[in-house]
Amino acid sequence: MQTRKILLSEDEMPRQWYNILADIKMNPPLGPDGKPVNPEALAAVFPMNLIEQEVSTERWIDIPEEVLKVYSIWRPSPLVRALSLEKALDTPAKIYFKNESLSPPGSHKPNTAVPQAYYNKVFGIKKITTETGAGQWGSALSFACAQYGIECKVFMVRISFDQKPYRKSMMAVWGGNCIASPSNETKAGRDALEKDPNTPGSLGIAISEAIEAAISDETGQTRYSLGSVLNHVLMHQTVIGLEAKKQLEKVGEYPDVIIGCAGGGSNFSGLSLPFVYDKLNGKQIDIYPVEPSACPTITRAPFVYDHGDTAGYTPLLPMHSLGHGFVPAPIHAGGLRYHGMAPIVSQLVSEGIMEAKAVTQLEAYKAGIIVARTEGIIPAPETNHALACVIDEAKKAKEEGKEKVILFNWSGHGLLDLAAYDNYFSGKMKDFILTDEEMLKSEEIFANYPKPALLKNR
Ligand SMILES: *Cc1c(COP(=O)(O)O)cnc(C)c1O
Repeated sequence: MQTRKILLSEDEMPRQWYNILADIKMNPPLGPDGKPVNPEALAAVFPMNLIEQEVSTERWIDIPEEVLKVYSIWRPSPLVRALSLEKALDTPAKIYFKNESLSPPGSHKPNTAVPQAYYNKVFGIKKITTETGAGQWGSALSFACAQYGIECKVFMVRISFDQKPYRKSMMAVWGGNCIASPSNETKAGRDALEKDPNTPGSLGIAISEAIEAAISDETGQTRYSLGSVLNHVLMHQTVIGLEAKKQLEKVGEYPDVIIGCAGGGSNFSGLSLPFVYDKLNGKQIDIYPVEPSACPTITRAPFVYDHGDTAGYTPLLPMHSLGHGFVPAPIHAGGLRYHGMAPIVSQLVSEGIMEAKAVTQLEAYKAGIIVARTEGIIPAPETNHALACVIDEAKKAKEEGKEKVILFNWSGHGLLDLAAYDNYFSGKMKDFILTDEEMLKSEEIFANYPKPALLKNR
């Protein structure tokens, strides 16, 4: 029998995260005056210890013992050889994936929720506010806050709140308090409802609400937490790629192709950044973030300075963006409905170190079902986008007759997304593809914004 799972013992779990800011140059975030923001300016939003991580240029950051203890509930995650999928596709490619669906909330998100809750706790914070798209982040943060005894308040994008009621139940089990966004509790929410009472909501609006709720708490003991996009979030996720590297070494393999779905860019970066380090040092690897065609930030939107949220509370971040006012079509992959992309991913795509791909949701589900029927795990709608690209690459390897090693991230399971699968089977699911006119509109918004530079990271 061929080995399917490559496992690490708990002793072999990485003791440090990899911080790519030691190895690449980035454009700074800008304040309202157009000048680089002073980290202290963010102190009302995030605890200082996490702000220090956000701007650190140390290559390795120690993972605290108290975080390792919680990680050990589900980490190290298995590296799985997708033997059945390979056989079904009759491909010479070897396909490996990190199974991040095995965490208690069912996705990669607790890899950063746990350290964020921990650092808030150490800093004396009693309550964390956040937004959630499909509900994975809200449930991951509720789980993490329960581990350290912190209160958690979640603003959930309206369309997912209605489509995925069980995510809210999960948050409640872990003690999290979840409400639909836009809500009447914040000015940002009331403004959005006034503009369109039937809005499906967006991550941008929910982020504005959560930040406002944190900074307006007069006790000073509430902070905000973001589940993707920021540098420290991507760094916490590198535990995925660091484990994968060790696991591949055990079987004498190295990836030719790395694939992950990209919403804000965190699970994809978690897997790929430790390998980007190798690529910057001369390795040949094709690295593909895959996004939905309905929300094409890195494949079609410009590299600009934009706000991370709709109300413009965040500094201007250098990123590929559809514009902070953009409300994506109601696709089922709620975790991929974000107007921007992590600055690190945006910079690396703009400089040709990674190559962005987009797939439609029908392509994504078609691939997801092929994989569910072979590998068994029902993928999250977000993961399906990566799977469409994995199948394409495996077919390409067959045409070229190459025994390529493909590594991808299985970011989460879809057990709370079954209604979306029903939609697919009944033929009700539609594709949404932005027209060139709609894309041009998003370019026009940025006419008067500062432009980030290419920094020759390669
Ligand atoms: C949130 C989520 C994503 C998208 O977020 P990233 O920050 O791009 O990783 C992808 N897959 C799953 C399962 C998610 O929960």
